[in-house]
Amino acid sequence: MLIDSHCHLDFKDFDEDRDAVLSRAKAAGVDMMVTISTKITEAEKIIKLAESDDALVCSVGIHPHEAGSEPETSAEALVDWARHDKVVGIGETGLDYFYEHSPRDAQQRNFRAHIEACRISRLPLIVHARDADEDTADILEDEMGKGDYPGLIHCFTAGPELARRALDIGFYISISGIATFKSAGDLRETIKSVPLERLLVETDSPYLAPVPHRGKRNEPSFVADTAAMLAELKGVSVEELAQATTDNFFNLFTKARRPAAQA
Ligand SMILES: [Zn+2]
Ligand SMILES: [Zn+2]
Repeated sequence: MLIDSHCHLDFKDFDEDRDAVLSRAKAAGVDMMVTISTKITEAEKIIKLAESDDALVCSVGIHPHEAGSEPETSAEALVDWARHDKVVGIGETGLDYFYEHSPRDAQQRNFRAHIEACRISRLPLIVHARDADEDTADILEDEMGKGDYPGLIHCFTAGPELARRALDIGFYISISGIATFKSAGDLRETIKSVPLERLLVETDSPYLAPVPHRGKRNEPSFVADTAAMLAELKGVSVEELAQATTDNFFNLFTKARRPAAQA
């Protein structure tokens, strides 16, 4: 069994064949997928999607790209949404200084509101960090000082410093198909320093399809290709890698329930 800890199945990229995408994922052994929220104004829509299939759960949150355009949210509003059965995490949130689609101060306020929601709800924080390693780690540590909360860095592409600081505060690191790219040698070196018991695996579909699907639309079934590369990198069998990342997922996403066959 594999889990795709981060995908965007609500995106219109999947409107034509969403059912087939889900079937292919299950056929590939992907028994659970977390479809990730980017806009709080679409929280209801993503919860409905998660309700449509037993293999789906979801998050609620505002992507840093949308921090300037979505209505400013509060921890309380996020916690309210998070009461729903299918909501297992808060995000994705964080900082993106590469695209900087939203002003940095709006991104930071949004990020901190999500952290506060995790502290209250005890659901994990799903962090997006791009070209913002230092500020991301500073905010995570500063907030940790106010009271602990669980979380992960998703689609990890940062350097060893953010990995170390995230691991030090108890965070998990989720690896996407980027790690399979030929050019990602430095990233693979960083991943070697992350303990197996802190790794998760994801697609971030529809983006970033792993080798050998690179350039195509990504989908959850392709998480198997990233898992195979990770197993090789960590020197374990694919089965061991799958078992470890699945166990890690349920250790972090405590509200998600194992599918019946796994329980
Ligand atoms: Zn992201
Ligand atoms: Zn995402």
